[in-house]
Amino acid sequence: MDKLSTPSIWRPFTQMAMAPKPEDLARAKNALLISQQGKEYIDAISSWWVINHGHCQPEIVEAIAQQVSQLDQVLFANFCHKPAQDLIQSLSEVLPQPLNKFFFSDNGSTAVEVALKMLIQYWQNLGESQRHLFISFDSSYHGDTVGAMSVSGDSLFTASYKEMLFQVLKVQQGRFSYDSVETFTEPFLEALEKHQDQLAGVIIEPLVQGAGGMIVWPKEALEVIGHAAKKKNIPLIFDEVMTGFGRTGQLFAFDHLSFNPDVLCLSKGLTGGSLPLSLTVCDQTIYDSFLSQDKSKMFFHGHSFTGNPISCAAATASTRLFSQKDYSLIWKKITNIHQERRQRLAEKVPLKDSRLCGTICALELDDQGLGYSSKLGDELSMKARKMGVFLRPLGSILYLLPPYSITEDQLHKTWDVIE
Ligand code: PMP
Repeated sequence: MDKLSTPSIWRPFTQMAMAPKPEDLARAKNALLISQQGKEYIDAISSWWVINHGHCQPEIVEAIAQQVSQLDQVLFANFCHKPAQDLIQSLSEVLPQPLNKFFFSDNGSTAVEVALKMLIQYWQNLGESQRHLFISFDSSYHGDTVGAMSVSGDSLFTASYKEMLFQVLKVQQGRFSYDSVETFTEPFLEALEKHQDQLAGVIIEPLVQGAGGMIVWPKEALEVIGHAAKKKNIPLIFDEVMTGFGRTGQLFAFDHLSFNPDVLCLSKGLTGGSLPLSLTVCDQTIYDSFLSQDKSKMFFHGHSFTGNPISCAAATASTRLFSQKDYSLIWKKITNIHQERRQRLAEKVPLKDSRLCGTICALELDDQGLGYSSKLGDELSMKARKMGVFLRPLGSILYLLPPYSITEDQLHKTWDVIE
């Protein structure tokens, strides 16, 4: 084990034996990434879907600068602070009223872990410990920690770790934009009926499943699923780690729907993408079940950086921007360009499918059955880089998910490069 070698960085989701040496970046501004050598790339995927307004947004940079010299970090179990209070206040103004209990952590995976643990213990606290099963969907992706992997669909991402994962009911679903509503709902309805007495909850990425292939769901399917779960009193977790903060053309994906989730996971764009932070938001009923004179009923979860004041200040600044600017027009403009350009592309190139939801557009190419292992994506990504556009396809699924400050010219350039 003691082989000598030079220090090096082990990069995420990277086959280090094959990956080219990464380029060092020096700066970023709005939709542009700028290298040490001054080469510019359009960040067409918002740096793993986190940057929503744009890189180095002045209001967020200013909020971070102000906060960092005041209070950098404090343990959140014994103290609170204004940045956290301000954040829950500004989020309460945009979230539906029942969702007003905020549990902090630091990334999307932990927001999901918290949601799962919260519901398991919620039922235990109510004396229903037989409820320990979750329903999830087979193209879902909820993160890289053990709980989040357990509820994610089985894939190359989870295959090596399957012995670590707990049992979850993963129901089949539709995948392509031409699949019927029933393909998205029927396996779920069957599982719900069959296992209703053991269920702790249902977890879903509403409207668009991200890493599973940018799969856009028919709204009607979510209506059916949501109302069926509500009717049986099974809590619904919405993992809006990717869809939150405008990606689907509304501030949250559930804003397109006629019902609210019982638990909501937020991260990525929560701070405008500037710093790590996440929230698991629930309602009074779930929160109340943890209140007791018995300490064993409290929630046994908390990370060192829970509620970090600098991240909270960044998140408040970002949330306020959504109230100050009319983003709906910006989102619409991005959707319209995607719509026009994907049609034009489909006339020239045979696509297996193309999907559009708000600011997210996915083009599924023929991968000869290779899925995520297809080399097509890597090749396209390299070529696009040379032409000044940063894309990171999911295997053969090429997608755009740009920051909202992308200019029309930059977005058209991205499509030109794809074309
Ligand atoms: N949920 C969803 C829907 C995601 O897309 C992701 C990350 N891509 C996660 C959870 C996990 O987030 P993180 O990478 O911050 O742990």
